[in-house]
Amino acid sequence: MHMERMLIFEHDSQAARSAARIAEDVALKVRVAQSIEGFRSALIDEHPDCVLIDLTMPGTDGLDIIRLMAKRECNANVILTSGADPRLLEAAARIATARGLRVIGHLTKPFPSRGLSQMLRQKGGAVPTTFGPVTQHTLELSFSILRQAIENCEFTLAYQPQVRCRDGQLAGFEALARWQHPDGLIAPSRFIPAVERAGLMPEFTARMTEQALSWFRKAILSPPTAYADVVVQSPPTLSINISALNLTRPDFPDVMAKLCEKHSVDSSQVVLELTETAALDDPVLSLELLTRLRAQGFQLSIDDFGAGYSSMQQLVRLPFSEIKIDKAFVASALQSDTSRSVVKSIVELGHSLGLRSTAEGVEDEATLQFLDFVGCDLAQGYFIARPMAGEQLSDWLSSVSEWPFRAMGVHHR
Ligand code: C2E
Ligand code: MG
Ligand code: MG
Repeated sequence: MHMERMLIFEHDSQAARSAARIAEDVALKVRVAQSIEGFRSALIDEHPDCVLIDLTMPGTDGLDIIRLMAKRECNANVILTSGADPRLLEAAARIATARGLRVIGHLTKPFPSRGLSQMLRQKGGAVPTTFGPVTQHTLELSFSILRQAIENCEFTLAYQPQVRCRDGQLAGFEALARWQHPDGLIAPSRFIPAVERAGLMPEFTARMTEQALSWFRKAILSPPTAYADVVVQSPPTLSINISALNLTRPDFPDVMAKLCEKHSVDSSQVVLELTETAALDDPVLSLELLTRLRAQGFQLSIDDFGAGYSSMQQLVRLPFSEIKIDKAFVASALQSDTSRSVVKSIVELGHSLGLRSTAEGVEDEATLQFLDFVGCDLAQGYFIARPMAGEQLSDWLSSVSEWPFRAMGVHHR
């Protein structure tokens, strides 16, 4: 009788033994590899049906193993494990999926044996299994549902204004994706990771960019007289969120430049915001693509800075023009000395590197004044305005004299 083969790549003998026992319990024939050479030859010789990989093996960052399997067009069911940061594990799983591997789940070590045996029992099923609080609720957002939603233009954008801390003058807008699903509104924190896992980020970003540019051209660059003076004073920017996965496709800068050309928007007015720089897989390719985007005139922003997934090394290595302070620090600035120090240090760090600083999550006047005091350039948050649909934003722009932060008078330096 043909027995399905499982290859376990794990350097810790005890962990390998316990994973092997679980696999044998569900009638798999197990082979354990403890070095990258052993793993490579087992992969080639044995064509395993299922592969379990510990991403924190000595001498590799785990991503080269993913690349190796993708290169060999490995079609096994893949389970990723790691004792490191769960977000890194999730990022690695997204990269593996984007590279065409069939990831059926990922587990943070030490994982419960029930988690692994459940995955192995379900392997081969159409629905990938994942465990952990972040991913569990995204299971039903399958590739075909997401692709259809993209094609049917179900994703729309809300725009949130940004102002200068110094004098409250309008500085720009951030475009934020919204999904009005028939069952209710689905939050970006839920569908963005699903779009990434489905490998649909290139299509998604192109559609969102197209929508944002078309709105920007009409509402801001060719404004109605009701608020023309507000947007003509100083040309505002348009911020678009991109994913680390966009930087795995060599044609990304050209796609973005062509879209700007099509909508007659100068790329220097477009800011591309990148989060989770830790998920940048190929350091040379991502550096090259970001550099090309800068050369084409785009501004680049490192989003959620300070949140832990955007490192100092990435900040220095990559050609960013803006640093966006994570809202967790901004929102707690008034209550916490530590948060105030963090915000102040990030603004200073940004300025010393020649970057503009933007604070998000500004929810009250005192925080806006604190930001101005420490020299932060731009502010964004509910105190200024909530993210709004395009038409609503036009009304907001028309009511300039009623902008609350204006009425309350931001102090001038
Ligand atoms: P982000 O880019 O850091 O966007 C800022 C988030 O903070 C938005 O959440 C916004 O609605 C929220 N926010 C704004 N002002 C305040 C405030 O005063 N207080 C609080 N508590 N929150 C505020 P949202 O819209 O839920 O988006 C979440 C994340 O999803 C974004 O974080 C971004 O990383 C991602 N995202 C959204 N749209 C896109 C997109 O089109 N493409 C990609 N790749 N990611 C997107
Ligand atoms: Mg953003
Ligand atoms: Mg952010």
